[in-house]
Amino acid sequence: MNQLTFRPKKSLGQNFLVDENIARKIIEKLTPNPQDVIIEIGPGFGVLTKYIISQARKVIAIEIDAKLCESLRGRFRSSKNFTLIQGDFLKTELRNYLEEEVLVRFLGNIPFHITSPVIFKIFQIRQFASDMTLMIQREVAERIVANPGGKDYGILSVFSQLYSKPKILFHISRNVFKPKPQVDSSVIKWDFTQPADVGVVSEEVLDKVIHLTFQQRRKMLRKSLQQIPGFFEYSKKINFNLKKRPEELSVHEFVELSNQISKLWKI
Ligand code: SAM
Repeated sequence: MNQLTFRPKKSLGQNFLVDENIARKIIEKLTPNPQDVIIEIGPGFGVLTKYIISQARKVIAIEIDAKLCESLRGRFRSSKNFTLIQGDFLKTELRNYLEEEVLVRFLGNIPFHITSPVIFKIFQIRQFASDMTLMIQREVAERIVANPGGKDYGILSVFSQLYSKPKILFHISRNVFKPKPQVDSSVIKWDFTQPADVGVVSEEVLDKVIHLTFQQRRKMLRKSLQQIPGFFEYSKKINFNLKKRPEELSVHEFVELSNQISKLWKI
């Protein structure tokens, strides 16, 4: 089996990058160094993998497709710094591959349909990661870096900007993938070493406030936060404009609001 005879599976989001210049550009932006431990999500045929294997200390690649795994095993059999995990990234226990002394890096041209779950899974272990660089749908990338006040700003933007400094590195035309997807992509990087400069009293309360308010993004905060037991009483003690809607709140304002709620409400 090779790339020419392989039949891509739509259900696994298999749109392979076939332009070597773009692959090199991604690696250039990633700038792997000899100490790096890189976890790659969905390596496919290894278009990016080959570069990181030659530049990083350790590469752990997680690929769900058995045929692609067979091809990767053959291609990189002599690379001692390469570990291939055949399985679903979303079900992989990442803690087994994290290191105490080194912050890992994430890389992947990931299937569009699992973009959010992949991002949120990595957010859970962000204290062990320095950054993640992903190729995702352009529209989603633009939502991630969006400022408050527009329709693009949502849960993904708030958590991304809270935990890191997300940056779109460049856009990629759909024409450099095979089969050609319906949409254009962007390469986006989250730098976890640069979280927002905020002091969070309770991560749990902040999480709840962001989720509850964005579940009803057109409603005023005072309405959606009624779902918190006793909120009507708390709201009298909160010094915050609760007539605002979640899409108007910056990350700092979400933290300020949730810190005030944390002092009144113990989850
Ligand atoms: N990185 C390759 C490239 O750039 O050509 C492949 C990219 S393709 C968009 C996505 C890859 O992720 C495919 O190889 C697919 O089999 C794999 N994949 C899909 N779902 C996955 C999952 N849940 N866990 C791990 N890999 C997955």
